[in-house]
Amino acid sequence: MEGACFESVWLGRGDLRWPLPRNFAGRLEGKTVERLVRRGKFLLADLSSGDVLIMHLGMSGSFRVSLPDSKQTPGHFYRERSTNTGHDHIVFGMSNGAEVTFNDPRRFGFMKIVPAARLKTERLLAGLGPEPLGVDFDAAVLARACWRRKTSLKAALTNQRIVAGLGNIYACEALHRARISPRRRSGTIASRTGAPNDRARVLVEAIKAVLNDAIIQGGSSLRDHRLTTGELGSFQHHFRAYDREGQACPTPGCGGVIERIVQTGRSTFYCRSCQK
Ligand SMILES: [Zn+2]
Repeated sequence: MEGACFESVWLGRGDLRWPLPRNFAGRLEGKTVERLVRRGKFLLADLSSGDVLIMHLGMSGSFRVSLPDSKQTPGHFYRERSTNTGHDHIVFGMSNGAEVTFNDPRRFGFMKIVPAARLKTERLLAGLGPEPLGVDFDAAVLARACWRRKTSLKAALTNQRIVAGLGNIYACEALHRARISPRRRSGTIASRTGAPNDRARVLVEAIKAVLNDAIIQGGSSLRDHRLTTGELGSFQHHFRAYDREGQACPTPGCGGVIERIVQTGRSTFYCRSCQK
């Protein structure tokens, strides 16, 4: 999309999680995508009009990109597209020939257009914490953010104001790798003065490692997640704790069993033997 212009915008319906912005297609057609970036779980396209298109995949949204030369899209794509097009809600026809389709079975995703000048005060983005893979995110920053908090560590890690873009799966996986209990009070990764302790250091390393591993594997396809080629990610085959209730803990020498509990309304998977 970067460097290409929206030639056509097809809408299958007027709403996703929320109604689409008024004149949505009109504000995109004829505009060039000057830059495409990600912030937290938001995808941001800077447009030549001075607007920014904000996109969020919600729970089950995905983009598929097909290029005019069919050889450039893998076989999986065609099979999945034929069974799934009922959930294609938006199709961007780009000037470089790419067709970018937003598909979302559960429609928790959304799109919004805001002027670039108002991005700093945009409600959706204001207060987002640091990027977990960025240089701004380290043990000192995480410890300071968790210091004096009484919430569980699991709740803290999925709080977008503490660290942006970390979801339920990767919070569970990072805690398991770090051998830290998701039930632990989040303030216990900091000293009395807010300085990071060893837990904070180990946890930050685990967060970065699990995200980097997952990116290499194309993410986790439990239900709906797909790569832009239509292919499935494969990180779900590498889960150590998530979705493994009742199975043996993979930590060498542990011998424990993965349990499922519910924290802030979401499933947490962990091993009480090795996660302290
Ligand atoms: Zn264990």
